[in-house]
Amino acid sequence: MTVTPPQLADTLVQSAVGGDTAATLRADTVSAWFGDHKVLDRVSLTMPAHEVTALIGPSGCGKSTFLRTLNRMHELIPTAALAGRVLLDGGDIYDRGRRITHARRQIGMVFQKPNPFPAMSLYDNVLAGLKLNGIKAGRDSKDDLVEECLTKAGLWREVKDRLRQPGGALSGGQQQRLCIARSLAVRPRVLLMDEPCSALDPTSTRRIEETIAELKTEVTIVIVTHNMQQAARVSDSCAFFLAEQGTPGVIVEHGDTDAMFNAPQDSRTADYVNGRF
Ligand code: ADP
Ligand code: MG
Repeated sequence: MTVTPPQLADTLVQSAVGGDTAATLRADTVSAWFGDHKVLDRVSLTMPAHEVTALIGPSGCGKSTFLRTLNRMHELIPTAALAGRVLLDGGDIYDRGRRITHARRQIGMVFQKPNPFPAMSLYDNVLAGLKLNGIKAGRDSKDDLVEECLTKAGLWREVKDRLRQPGGALSGGQQQRLCIARSLAVRPRVLLMDEPCSALDPTSTRRIEETIAELKTEVTIVIVTHNMQQAARVSDSCAFFLAEQGTPGVIVEHGDTDAMFNAPQDSRTADYVNGRF
């Protein structure tokens, strides 16, 4: 039997609570349908812990659908069907007997349009991340959690003196960072971001990109973006999706971001990253 010294035990507890929880997410031959319409065909992709994976490709090629299969949001759409597996550190999030909330707590999502609760205070908006997932926070820990999540989202210094103001009073970029803070409240292992900066000005976009760079030390990040400079700036690897002439979306090319942009292997990737689509 090994005995853990009390000091070390404290450190272990702390790291489990506030520290690195990033996990590797792997899609294994994921296909998706809406009714009879097949929109993804056997897509496989590994999204490693501590990395940012960017999903790029023209509109309609299935990037958002793919993202929704990664945290079981896809199955909420009545006509939707799915095949394949999604593995979080090796465990299939679709395993029979695993509840949808199990996946949802570990794999958060941030959308294109910031969607805080506009009439709810900033403080309660962050805590709503817990309530949405059926988690109760102890009274003492709430203040700490709100500060921690707002800090990680890069918003704490701007709002610490007005936590009782409504979410709707913030600028668009601040609202998006509030939504990131809300997603972080459950301490997810993966954060999915669907064009998180498309509705934002360049300065706010920069702030979100800085936040992504800091968050990736503890959360695996998958980001959909139409902005090639952004993909080049924030991501470690990149997957290029394409759905040609009514066929379902597939990944044409996947790899290290620098290689994808500087030496793409497929002529369609070269055309897309160079703006010829
Ligand atoms: P992207 O995010 O790459 O623009 P989407 O995943 O949104 O692509 O869409 C992929 C395909 O699935 C498109 O043909 C789109 O029309 C279709 N689609 C998306 N959402 C739905 C839905 N809720 N019901 C039916 N078809 C959908
Ligand atoms: Mg989309």
